[in-house]
Amino acid sequence: MKILRVALDVPLDTLFDYSAADQDDIAIGDRVLVSFGRRQMVGVVAEIAGHSDLSPGRIKPVLQVFRDTPPLAEEIFRLLRFCADYYHHPLGEVILNALPVPLRQTRPVARAKPTGYRLTEAGLALETDALPARAIVKRKLLKSLKQAGTLARGDIAALSQSALQAIKEFIAQGWAEESDDVAISAPTPACRVGTLFVPTRCTEITPAWAQRRAHPTNLTPAQEQAVAAILSGQDQFQVWLLYGITGSGKTEVYLQVIAQVLQRGGQALVLVPEINLTPQLESRFRARFPDTCQAGLHSRLSTGERLRNWSLAQSGQAQIVLGTRLALFTPMPKLKLIVVDEEHDASFKQQDGLRYSARDMAVARGKQAGTPVILGSATPALETWYNASIGRYRMLELPARAVAEAALPAIHCIDISRAKLADGLSDSLIDALRVRLERGEQSLVFINRRGFAPVMRCGQCGWVSTCHRCSSRLVVHLREKRLRCHHCGHESRIPPTCPDCGNADLAPLGQGTQRLEDTLGSLFPTARILRVDRDSTRRKQALPEMLERIHAAEVDIVIGTQLLAKGHDFKKLTLVGVVNADGALYSADFRASERLFAQLMQVAGRAGRDTLPGEVLIQTQFPTHPQFQALIKHDYPGFAETMLTERKQAEFPPYCHQALLRAEAPQIETALAFLRKAQAVAPRDFDVSLFDPVPAQMARLAGMERAHLLVQAASRGALQAFLGAWNKALFGLGGSVRWSLDVDPLEF
Ligand code: ADP
Ligand code: ZN
Ligand code: ZN
Repeated sequence: MKILRVALDVPLDTLFDYSAADQDDIAIGDRVLVSFGRRQMVGVVAEIAGHSDLSPGRIKPVLQVFRDTPPLAEEIFRLLRFCADYYHHPLGEVILNALPVPLRQTRPVARAKPTGYRLTEAGLALETDALPARAIVKRKLLKSLKQAGTLARGDIAALSQSALQAIKEFIAQGWAEESDDVAISAPTPACRVGTLFVPTRCTEITPAWAQRRAHPTNLTPAQEQAVAAILSGQDQFQVWLLYGITGSGKTEVYLQVIAQVLQRGGQALVLVPEINLTPQLESRFRARFPDTCQAGLHSRLSTGERLRNWSLAQSGQAQIVLGTRLALFTPMPKLKLIVVDEEHDASFKQQDGLRYSARDMAVARGKQAGTPVILGSATPALETWYNASIGRYRMLELPARAVAEAALPAIHCIDISRAKLADGLSDSLIDALRVRLERGEQSLVFINRRGFAPVMRCGQCGWVSTCHRCSSRLVVHLREKRLRCHHCGHESRIPPTCPDCGNADLAPLGQGTQRLEDTLGSLFPTARILRVDRDSTRRKQALPEMLERIHAAEVDIVIGTQLLAKGHDFKKLTLVGVVNADGALYSADFRASERLFAQLMQVAGRAGRDTLPGEVLIQTQFPTHPQFQALIKHDYPGFAETMLTERKQAEFPPYCHQALLRAEAPQIETALAFLRKAQAVAPRDFDVSLFDPVPAQMARLAGMERAHLLVQAASRGALQAFLGAWNKALFGLGGSVRWSLDVDPLEF
């Protein structure tokens, strides 16, 4: 008999022993079904041992070994183990959560339907005329298969209602066969790259179109250098910071390096921060590599599609895996390159459960696999910039826009401490908008608050609308006549009078997207105005349709939130106005400035992408603030230097390493009491500082009170050693408090 040490999805930091017969063919990484308490659960064999510390009578046999997919490979196992150790999170939860949903279920996955079909030799030899003239669908199917080579299931279904039946008959005749060469991509039917219309399924790309895109671009000297540097160390671990302003051609560098990886039969993993950016990038990759199987992995795909793409990556068939942070844990046996685009983006960090940073774990994975890792950004995270400055990462710079005529936009600040504002807009901004309208060019007005106004206020007693479940304000949505909490989703009617003093004259205070839409509408009654925020894009196809309208120049003024800040390339856009940029300057969060800078650089990057020169106008009360001065000069290095000096003085990251112990309970006192106990049981002999427990910045969230305790250390090793010892003690505390460790926290 042998002992299997099985990882289970339970919040306990241990493996569980089960037995199997010696002759059973079981390997590490196999999925097994076991009984746990009164339930049956799926686990993954993490170790195989000769004996157990449990008495033999208590060891239960495994109930079943799943053979529906190959075992989890050592390569991915090592990464998950590292991740569990680094974040001090139970290994079982880390492993099971990294698996596609169907693989976590207690029954084997059904054999999936094939993704596509192709003709056999016999089918290829068959003439269309050999089929009866009235077999219209079959004739159409045969012709399409001959043209496309392989057709995706969905494409066949789209030919005609009976086409899927017809393909079955083809297979029965020996004319066609199943093919798994088609990876499933985003469900968007089509999406625009530049001014060309690109279908997203690789099978739909016509040869002519592919040719137009396939021939390699002439790289700029900076691009050439970057590509050469990365290729010079193709088979070794090295982190490259590809620092280049928006439009400098970073994506082109990825494409060129990936081309080499593909040529050598390797796999490339590309991580992007935003699901909204994946369709664009997917089509750009498809167009460049039309014959390569590419698998998307993000939350827009159904669980079945995700499993299929995951399996294609696991088998080595999918050579490019493109996805959001969850794609990090995809098994890729021939991994040769990892790209993290927009590496500074906070969405690479998961904010619940296992609070991992996909960017940092991408670096860890590259190290384990011995592959290069490219971190691309126009505004790198200060931690990354610091790592490059001390030589841990190597920096590659693309200093200019790739398209020679596309100059950087001119950035100006409008001092709103003096200027009179009409509903939040300064005369200078209004004039600039008018000029664009007259010239037939597009403008983007950027504001980071959706809804009508940030808050409802009583002018008499000072009452403001707040959420009773969160420490936040309720945002006014005037169209819907509702107040809404953007943190927990709570909604209520707008009260007719002040709940405190009865005053009937309540007024919305401040600016939101809806109010801006009204204001601009009355200022420019003939302009075509489009609001793009989370409310207006709730419907699945809404965003692609809106982007389409902007590209087609059917819109004059776009009102956008951060949803529009990233990645999109609008040719006619020449003006970006930023309505209120000052919030971050007051923030208690030491990363707020960094985020604001990145965001404004990104928004500014939307203007003047093509040959028309762009202008950016930022309304602020503090035009002389060093942050805005750096922005005007497009001086990220200068900004980073100032910020790093401040961080060093204050001993903030990257000059120290942090972890948070988070706790939440219905009463704040319960959470704080837990943290005080945790403080008391902290092991002493480590070189770390423990701060006192404090309520979180969002102290109330969805009815729970949240508090945390900060641990800080000068050395990463000391922090890790301390957390390891402390974590064990914390599991002993028990109690009704939900707690978790957050290593390298981004939110406080
Ligand atoms: P980034 O990823 O840095 O924002 P992209 O790679 O998207 O930049 O490039 C911006 C634009 O410049 C794209 O339209 C791209 O096709 C074009 N481009 C990139 N490299 C070159 C080049 N070497 N020559 C001409 N155009 C280029
Ligand atoms: Zn009042
Ligand atoms: Zn709330």
